[in-house]
Amino acid sequence: MFAKKLLAWYEEFGRELPWRKTENPYYIWLSEIILQQTRIEQGRSYYEHFVAHYPTVNDLAEATEEQVLKSWQGLGYYSRARNLHSAAQYVAKELNGEFPDTYEGILSLKGVGKYTAAAIASFAYRLPYPVIDGNVYRFVARLYGISTPIGTEQAYKEFERILLNLIDKARPDLFNQAIMDFGATYCKPTGCDCQNCIFRQECVAFRDGKVELLPVKPAKIKIKERFFYYIDIRWGDHLLMQQREPGDIWQGLFELPLHETESPINPQSLIEEISMVLKTWLGSEPQSLTIGPEMKHQLTHRTIKAYFLKANYGTKPSKIPEKMRIVELQELKTLPISRLIDRYLSKM
Ligand code: SF4
Repeated sequence: MFAKKLLAWYEEFGRELPWRKTENPYYIWLSEIILQQTRIEQGRSYYEHFVAHYPTVNDLAEATEEQVLKSWQGLGYYSRARNLHSAAQYVAKELNGEFPDTYEGILSLKGVGKYTAAAIASFAYRLPYPVIDGNVYRFVARLYGISTPIGTEQAYKEFERILLNLIDKARPDLFNQAIMDFGATYCKPTGCDCQNCIFRQECVAFRDGKVELLPVKPAKIKIKERFFYYIDIRWGDHLLMQQREPGDIWQGLFELPLHETESPINPQSLIEEISMVLKTWLGSEPQSLTIGPEMKHQLTHRTIKAYFLKANYGTKPSKIPEKMRIVELQELKTLPISRLIDRYLSKM
């Protein structure tokens, strides 16, 4: 009954999305990875770009990491792009370009978790695996009055058991799309129209007046601050860039040479400290050093406080550290860069 009611609702109110018109597992995989932590409106143009530029998994595998990161630029969470690229290379080389067609096979791809594996398995192959994203957690937690904090392994198993009983085995693809849409557009975080909801009779949260209290969210992780001093080192049409290394945010992206500190530098001694840093890096101090804009950049568990300085050298410095790359201004647009650096460069 539940599935029937839900599918009838979906037929009338379900959202039209480009990746719902295909059963190609590669396209569905692209859409699912792009949409993690991304709003649908923003993800749509990236999906269309990837499908146009990398029409097959082999095309994606053959691209360089720099090209893939450039295509991904602005979406954030760049490890998703690197995993996507590396999984495409695995499918191309190890599986002869054939996308896996079992839940376990899909789950074994780099960067694919249970949610994504269930989405691809059900949308592409109609395998009866329920998807559990934030919208599904919210809807099911309210419907059944579940107060287990979501986002834990225990909660996942509990919700999965319930959904395995509810899922339409003949059309798991439609069921999964419908339940996510219902959570996203009707059983919303706030302001849902419970009085007119088709599940109001059986909804425990509605009956008990707990709609705003469910689902129970996991405890919040403390946000840390980091202090980035970026130095825009230029002479003529040239500037220095460097690539971020593994083990930290924005791995593989290019940025201006960075001096990171544990705490903010006293503004009175900023020019003096950065001059010293430049002398160590480049063997001499710049002709001029000026303080530029300050920017705040919010990541999930960190706040980046970024300060920009402009160092003019007149001519090429005598020493260039190995990790820095001389870049011509016109070459900048071809490099994958973080949104923070993009924001700064677009102001210059
Ligand atoms: S009655 Fe309200 S809380 Fe319950 S499922 Fe419907 S919209 Fe969600």
